[in-house]
Amino acid sequence: MTSPPTLSGLPPIHGHEELRRALALAHARDRLPRVLLLHGRPGIGKQRMAHWIGQLVVCVEPRLEGPCGECRECRLALRVEHPELHWYMPLPRPKSRGSREREDEALEEARIEWIEEARRTPFRPSHQTELRGLQIGTIRNLRKRVGKGAGTGGRQLYLVADAEELVAQEASQEAANALLKTLEEPPANTWIVLTSSEPGRLLDTIRSRTTPLHLTGLSEAVLRRMLEEEVGAEASEAARAARLAGGSIGRALGLLPSGGEPGPLEVVRQDAFHLLRAALQESPGARFAKAMSYPASGARTLTELFSALEVWLRDLGAAGAASGSAILNQDAAPWLTRQAEELPLDPSGPSRALGCVQEAREQAAGNVNPQLLLTGLLTAMHRELRHDRS
Ligand SMILES: [Zn+2]
Repeated sequence: MTSPPTLSGLPPIHGHEELRRALALAHARDRLPRVLLLHGRPGIGKQRMAHWIGQLVVCVEPRLEGPCGECRECRLALRVEHPELHWYMPLPRPKSRGSREREDEALEEARIEWIEEARRTPFRPSHQTELRGLQIGTIRNLRKRVGKGAGTGGRQLYLVADAEELVAQEASQEAANALLKTLEEPPANTWIVLTSSEPGRLLDTIRSRTTPLHLTGLSEAVLRRMLEEEVGAEASEAARAARLAGGSIGRALGLLPSGGEPGPLEVVRQDAFHLLRAALQESPGARFAKAMSYPASGARTLTELFSALEVWLRDLGAAGAASGSAILNQDAAPWLTRQAEELPLDPSGPSRALGCVQEAREQAAGNVNPQLLLTGLLTAMHRELRHDRS
């Protein structure tokens, strides 16, 4: 294992070159939209891109291809220490502190802690273990900060990460309205960048006030190079994680082993494999037992499991179409091929089962009981995959 350079602050930016050139050009012509929505799959670098836009906005001598990277403002931005670049994100709901002011303070403290952690750990897997939301108190704090304005002659940028988390909570209307007021009329020299991997969950009123920009995944080659050169992963591990990651550096990081243990998303991948296996089994008891092995609450944390299950279903489809080289979970290629041959598999089954997963994903956003949700999903997948419509 080669030792990666010690980093503090933002990781280097990769990919999205065309988009960056377009943004730099728009900025040079003073036409950079004031409210942007960066959307695309989780872990592909949307927040990193938002930071790059922030750096572009504060850079003293931006170039045609982007910020100079050398001026004082750029260096502060790269260390996530620039006083006019503000980063807001979903956080766990604070414990009640008795008053609104105290709760807002607690959220501000949690936000600063979160940024310090991000600075110390530039490469973090896209993996969530707790429920987070864009709390109303966070939006109140943001509005207070916007109201103060930038320093003399300064420009400021607000990054609101995972903006869809605004709707998945109580008091969401109040939080949404507060954010809306800021989006409607950003003060002079102020830019706002929202990021979202599920833009469909954003309120229409919010989405309609943004200029949406879609970010695509990073190539397997870029991911591999990042994992080897910047993260210090072993070549074979880097290749495997890059292949399975679907263009997402956050996913790739979660698939790498850490501290001798399988990475958190590797655990999820194996869990999703067991779900698929249960769905294919004849016995309803096996499916029920698998569904009951999950906790009875916290359906919103199932998103990663669904993403991994989708990869398995696409692989099963590839095995059915005898295109073994398209299988991403290469370690299970013989098993997948055997399933496709023996079941016998309905050729359009996997794509219909993918539709079932999509439905489950939407239900999970509404926070239903995971055991019921998975029982229903496994039954529906079984029916589609086995074509057992009796
Ligand atoms: Zn600069």
